Amino acid sequence: MIPFADPGRQYSEYRQQALDAVGRVLDSGWYVLGEQVACFEQEFAAYCEGGYGVGVGNGTDAITIALRSFGIGTGDEVIVPSHTAVATAAGVEACGAKAVFADVEERYYTLDPVEAEKAITPKTRAIVAVHLYGNPADLDALAAICREHDLRLIEDCAQAHGALYHGHKVGSIGDAGCFSFYPTKNLGTPGDGGMIVFSDEGACERARQLRQYGWDDKRQSQFAGVNSRLDEMHAAILREQLRHLDGWNQRRREIAGMYDARLKELDLVVPEVREGCEGVYHLYVVRVKNRDIIRQKLREKGIGASIHYPQAAHQQRAYRRDGLCLPVTEKIVDEILTLPMFPQLRDDEVNLVCQSLDEILSEGL
Ligand SMILES: *Cc1c(COP(=O)(O)O)cnc(C)c1O
Repeated sequence: MIPFADPGRQYSEYRQQALDAVGRVLDSGWYVLGEQVACFEQEFAAYCEGGYGVGVGNGTDAITIALRSFGIGTGDEVIVPSHTAVATAAGVEACGAKAVFADVEERYYTLDPVEAEKAITPKTRAIVAVHLYGNPADLDALAAICREHDLRLIEDCAQAHGALYHGHKVGSIGDAGCFSFYPTKNLGTPGDGGMIVFSDEGACERARQLRQYGWDDKRQSQFAGVNSRLDEMHAAILREQLRHLDGWNQRRREIAGMYDARLKELDLVVPEVREGCEGVYHLYVVRVKNRDIIRQKLREKGIGASIHYPQAAHQQRAYRRDGLCLPVTEKIVDEILTLPMFPQLRDDEVNLVCQSLDEILSEGL
């Protein structure tokens, strides 16, 4: 089966470097919040053209802690797309705020600024823009709305490490960029990890306290924090991986180019990258009619197509909102299909995916 993602194949590319890095950490005797995390925070923030990096336990916590570091919590509302990993909504609600769902643009699958603005109430404090599938959201329009209504703009960059918005790295444009290093992400460690990249030093300092019991530098809790730390072993591995990220993203773009060329002849919708942006194809998602049948037939041919995501957040029990209707989200949810996409995917495998889709679609259903 050709999987839609394959972190194990990726590991084989940096195996020795990772083992050496882990060995150095084990030998050092210092395992949590040490030199590796501090170096990786600086290196990754610099990579993102951002100011200050704060390593945390995972991408969901990155969103929660970023919001809390701006004083957002109980009684506040935060606008998010519903068409995203449910982690976006979970991250918002873990700070005590309510996730308010808005629709996405049909062309790019990212938060629609017009719909986001309509969702603003006196309780709104922030907008979380998700660069879904590695494709930058409309940050200019969203930033303008945030300025006008005095809201924070948080970028959920969990799928977009290295993506460019008008020549600038995502994560450096809003008030904070939240990243996940879950194994399948474009920068993915064998375990959990996350980071917030802040443009403001004060918010960064609060996040550093929040991730560790609200401690100040005398280890006294100044406010109620959590325990959400990036550990030394993952930071050491991530530092090695960071050297590969641009090359891996380039290979993803190359694969996307091959898919685009072959698939646009077929009766399906290929992904579009926003003008002036460079996507990083965390996922390659097409839209087709009869999606479930096609997915099944692909599986029979040994192709592990997947769905991101089979239910939008507001369609799941935990986040159901009475009377809420998001027409674009609810339409595309039944059409989206994720094809295999990871840097180590071989050309012959890409060809096989295209050929199989061609056969399935021309057979008629
Ligand atoms: C993966 C992901 C997250 C959450 O990251 P975790 O590290 O799994 O907590 C948040 N948002 C999006 C869009 C994601 O894809």
